[in-house]
Amino acid sequence: MLSKEILGSITAYTCPENVKTNEVLKGYTSFKIGGPAECLVEIDTVQQLTDVSQYLKREKVPYYVLGNGSNTLFSDEGYEGVVLHLGRKIDEIRVEGNLIYAEAGAMLVSVSRTAQKNGLTGLEFAAGIPGTVGGGVVMNAGAYDGEMKTVVKKVRAVSPKGEICELNNEELKFGYRYSILRGTGYVVTDVVFELKPGDKEEILAKMNDFNARRREKQPIELPSAGSTFKRPEGYYAGQLIMEAGLRGFTIGGAKVSEKHCGFIVNTGNATSSDVRDLIGEVQKRVKEKFGVDLEPEIEIL
Ligand SMILES: Cc1cc2nc3c(=O)[nH]c(=O)nc-3n(C[C@H](O)[C@H](O)[C@H](O)COP(=O)(O)OP(=O)(O)OC[C@H]3O[C@@H](n4cnc5c(N)ncnc54)[C@H](O)[C@@H]3O)c2cc1C
Repeated sequence: MLSKEILGSITAYTCPENVKTNEVLKGYTSFKIGGPAECLVEIDTVQQLTDVSQYLKREKVPYYVLGNGSNTLFSDEGYEGVVLHLGRKIDEIRVEGNLIYAEAGAMLVSVSRTAQKNGLTGLEFAAGIPGTVGGGVVMNAGAYDGEMKTVVKKVRAVSPKGEICELNNEELKFGYRYSILRGTGYVVTDVVFELKPGDKEEILAKMNDFNARRREKQPIELPSAGSTFKRPEGYYAGQLIMEAGLRGFTIGGAKVSEKHCGFIVNTGNATSSDVRDLIGEVQKRVKEKFGVDLEPEIEIL
């Protein structure tokens, strides 16, 4: 239970309208699932993000940094602690030669478009990933022929100890849907991308092609968190799930997408338990049939 003193300090670092108690989280995620957060803070500036996260670390208050919520499954019980929501105000994007500087709340789609308009190639893969720069770098988001690992030069963050730090590409230890930032208490404030000069028309054509493929193959018309599982080595999760006979398999409001079996979709009133039960059932059946362990890609709280 957050004390009045803690809520008062958070308000002092931000402003009263930005501090919401018992805020229902379903509206903040692409899955449209989640109970109330004890406190949700709308973050408007890098300074606020730094100050509030340093304060919460000092006071050992549990917190969760939420970007666009497109890879997050909150619990039906909600979140005990503080959700730091990077809204649309912490989204500056600046181009300097081959470098793009972006604040953590900027959408990957916007950074990708900015790169195209400036004749910079390397971020085409991100044109349809519905996440923020912060979430993307934490997850080493990737698609088609690219991933964040190939374009991130450095990241500025608040470290687990509360210090402002910079990590270069090597220090980020990127792996498949992994970086050192994932689950370790870092709070990303801004990112520098390093791209290469390219032809604007060619870059645009590639982005359009990737987005057309997405629309054709993925159930983007229904709430989800993208691919539910990581790609197991040597296989495709969606194919294994389909071949296990689970296309359209449903628990409560959660369903294995008929369009792409690698996606679990919310058909309307799915709860977090529906999704977690369905994940468990899919894992069990795929393991029984193929002996393969499917590991969730999404953040489950
Ligand atoms: C339709 C659809 C398609 C998708 N396609 C792809 C795809 O092609 N490739 C792919 O990789 N992903 C894909 N995703 C998943 C998702 O969009 C990406 O993982 C994205 O990078 C998540 O960004 P976010 O801001 O929404 O993250 P969130 O869900 O808000 O957060 C994800 C993780 O990052 C952490 N985080 C977020 N911001 C910060 C920050 N500033 N500092 C520290 N930690 C932070 C969170 O705490 C959490 O651990 C898809 C999702 C959907 C719904």
